Amino acid sequence: MTKFEALGLDKALLNAITDLGFDTPSEVQEKSIPLLLSDEIDLVALAQTGTGKTAAFGFPLIQKIDSASRTTQGLILSPTRELCLQITNEMQLYSKYVKGLNIVAVYGGASITDQARQIKRGAQIIVATPGRMKDMIGRGIIDISKIDYCILDEADEMLNMGFYEDIKDILSNTPESKSTWLFSATMPKEVSTIAKKFMKNPTEITVGSKNSGVDTVQHEYYTVGGRDRYPALKRLADANPGIFSVVFCRTKRDTQKVAEKLIEDGYNAGALHGDLSQNQRDLVMNAFRKKQIQMLVATDVAARGIDVDDITHVINYQLPDEIETYTHRSGRTGRAGKSGISMVIITRSESRKIGAIERKIQQKFISKKIPTGIEICEIQLYHLANKIRNTKINKEVSNYLPAINDVLEGLDRDELIQKIVSVEFTRFFNYYNRTKDLNTSEGERGSKRDNDFQTDSDSVRYFINIG
Ligand code: AMP
Repeated sequence: MTKFEALGLDKALLNAITDLGFDTPSEVQEKSIPLLLSDEIDLVALAQTGTGKTAAFGFPLIQKIDSASRTTQGLILSPTRELCLQITNEMQLYSKYVKGLNIVAVYGGASITDQARQIKRGAQIIVATPGRMKDMIGRGIIDISKIDYCILDEADEMLNMGFYEDIKDILSNTPESKSTWLFSATMPKEVSTIAKKFMKNPTEITVGSKNSGVDTVQHEYYTVGGRDRYPALKRLADANPGIFSVVFCRTKRDTQKVAEKLIEDGYNAGALHGDLSQNQRDLVMNAFRKKQIQMLVATDVAARGIDVDDITHVINYQLPDEIETYTHRSGRTGRAGKSGISMVIITRSESRKIGAIERKIQQKFISKKIPTGIEICEIQLYHLANKIRNTKINKEVSNYLPAINDVLEGLDRDELIQKIVSVEFTRFFNYYNRTKDLNTSEGERGSKRDNDFQTDSDSVRYFINIG
């Protein structure tokens, strides 16, 4: 018997699980699947994204649904269109051997007619964002009066985004008899209120420690002067050549500005915020998924539900106002068993916030220094040397070797290496040579400031290198 079989899952799901290559149930799956399969209960599960929570509710839901009936039996509410599509996609993979099961995604920003058509064909499970769901119930397109299961996924994010009224409205259209399963990364007051108000004596399970960040994430903070946030961000990127990151800003305006500045400075960056059209956001997200964008600068709201697994760094360009938000941000890295780093750029006056976050996530921050210009040059130099060493030789090059030899005639090995490396190194050296140490808040006389840019207050200041 496999470990998944031992949880009580049937053949159709077990076959799909084998196809997916899942070997061992994750903690949240181990805790919730047997509970949900064996009884009709209400459940509150505290689990972060990346812990396998979609399968934790998805497997039991698929098993309990009667796919021979066309009635809508299960509703999953999720905060964003991205997450909604991601859940639908995962659920379709899980249920590929269940005949006749229709899982339909319902979300804003897409044709309501197409979605209505899919619902009409008979959707036993609907995965929806609250706004569009409420709209479609109102128009009489969706009937959830007979559902048996209602799942609230990322409940904290849904409430953070102001969906309380919509959720209340949607739930008022569901029968008393249904079971409700609530999944949330954190348990703020608002989520407890929902649990108290709309759930019957819920069983509670916790994965990892309550309210904590995932322990695959290392938390670091860097203290700089208020005007040095942008140069500090650049240095953090330059000191991590393989970076694939989300950079969080507090406002749409800062998000746009930081992204523009990064692009101007030659980084593969992009902006993601609510002032962009859905089409623009899709383009940015696609480029990010393909890693054409290495630094995605985003607002908290726009970044909800980013479903990219291998983000190496989350950079808090500015700290969020709410501590809860920090948990969501840092949870974008260290997913699916990988490790990640969450970096926070702060000014001295913000340092007390670090303690508050530490208490909340029950993890310690490491205080780190922004690398100096010379340190970055060294990192880049070794990175380049390793890149050269690991580069697979393209056989086509041999055709040109005689000609190249002619051009490079007379250079010895050392000289050649120095020249090759200088191609890249000089760029960094020229930029960072004699720049100041950002960890000291006072500028040093005789040293120059990195090409600067400030987004902290209402004013924007540009410092341009002249020398
Ligand atoms: P989630 O927390 O649901 O967003 O899941 C995160 C990722 O882990 C998804 O890509 C899932 O396909 C994957 N996953 C879920 N359960 C398992 C498992 N038991 N073993 C390996 N991968 C899993």
